[in-house]
Amino acid sequence: MTSNSLVELDRAHLVHPVASYRGHERAGVRVLKSAKGAIVTDATGHSMIDGFAGLWCVNAGYGVESIVEAAAKQMRELPYATGYFSLGSESAIRLAAELADRAPGDLNHVYFTLGGSDAVDSTVRFVRYYQHARGTPQKDQFISLASGYHGSSTVGAGLTALPLFHAGFGLPFDWQHKIPSHYAYRNPVGSDPAAIIAASVAALRAKVEEIGPDRVAAFYAEPIQGSGGVLVPPDGWMKAMREVCRELDILFVADEVITGFGRTGPLFACTDEGIVPDLMTTAKGLTSGYVPMGAVFLSDHVYNTIADGAGESAVGHGYTYSAHPVSAAVGLEVLRLYEAGLLENGRRAGARLMAGLRSLSDHPLVGDVRGRGMLAAIELVTDKARKTPLPAAADPSHRIFDRAWDNGLVIRAFATGILGYAPPLCCTDADIDGIIERTRMTLDQTLEDPDVR
Ligand code: PMP
Repeated sequence: MTSNSLVELDRAHLVHPVASYRGHERAGVRVLKSAKGAIVTDATGHSMIDGFAGLWCVNAGYGVESIVEAAAKQMRELPYATGYFSLGSESAIRLAAELADRAPGDLNHVYFTLGGSDAVDSTVRFVRYYQHARGTPQKDQFISLASGYHGSSTVGAGLTALPLFHAGFGLPFDWQHKIPSHYAYRNPVGSDPAAIIAASVAALRAKVEEIGPDRVAAFYAEPIQGSGGVLVPPDGWMKAMREVCRELDILFVADEVITGFGRTGPLFACTDEGIVPDLMTTAKGLTSGYVPMGAVFLSDHVYNTIADGAGESAVGHGYTYSAHPVSAAVGLEVLRLYEAGLLENGRRAGARLMAGLRSLSDHPLVGDVRGRGMLAAIELVTDKARKTPLPAAADPSHRIFDRAWDNGLVIRAFATGILGYAPPLCCTDADIDGIIERTRMTLDQTLEDPDVR
């Protein structure tokens, strides 16, 4: 099939996620055809470095034969097993045990989902089950952060703080509340880490006081806010928020859908701060995007409280594809790869990426460079002193994405003039240097674009 006819079929039939449907129809799909390592090739034969690992997920890189083999072997042996009726599969059981072994603290119980949104949804249900089971059903209010992203199911979209996901749905629900983000580059309290941490702690305390001290069930935070623009909290922020949640008797839910599985260095970013959340969500890097899967981790305390509360009754929560054996087999192989050198390579490549991006600070358009490991962003401005964003009317994100693509680089270009980077952890030095070089080329071209200045 020619790439032109695919574009026509796509236009006529395939509905794309988070897209302007009419805008997409006009522009037409770009068909990706093949990939190897960190390089993706489209249907016209144009090759690019994938600086975003698909959608922050292909951590192992493309074309890893042992992952393909693991899936094929499991498909031949047992392509499906339900977890209902107390049934199970070896791959899912082993993956749960391996993950529990590596997860922070007592996060010893794993509930598998299909991705991140249903992992977040599952935590909302687990949190409510927990609060009922311990006799505090009035604790039914949830708090998350401005600029946070927690999926696009209706419940998760209410925890998500991006207005695009709310309009027309009455979201956020009246039990979903927000406090300001730690966003250091544009924080009313300034960029001093101690002041930012103090402001977040005070905001959480004030919000709990406002809602009612005995009403709040859980607080959600990403260790680094991803879809909100790769916002990195100061060191100590997660720890401070975790501690205040404990003090206020609020469950702390760490959403590690992006940060999990080596993106910031260790297997889980909570380890960066030595914290143990009450619940943790993961997806993406769990299977490196080869097949869909997410995982919710429950602490001993949360799991046992729910289990005791339900007694002999079933806990009413489950999916047909919970703990899918093929996804679990892929997860096991990907986990093996992380520990057989992928995490280490990611840490080395991450240091090179951060140094390379910092070297772009001298560029007239670069206002801020931030990140940790293989998760980073640069924020573009037209005036560094005033931190003036690029003019939204010029639609800079599409222009920059297109230019980078032509220059042989895939990045995430946020509408706000933020460029996001999350390359595969398998990147070579040449891949990382290529990302930096092609970014500089893209920025130089953008600087010459009269509409963007
Ligand atoms: N939580 C976070 C922190 C995410 O970044 C995402 C997806 N980018 C989700 C949840 C939702 O995951 P999914 O797209 O797999 O449903």
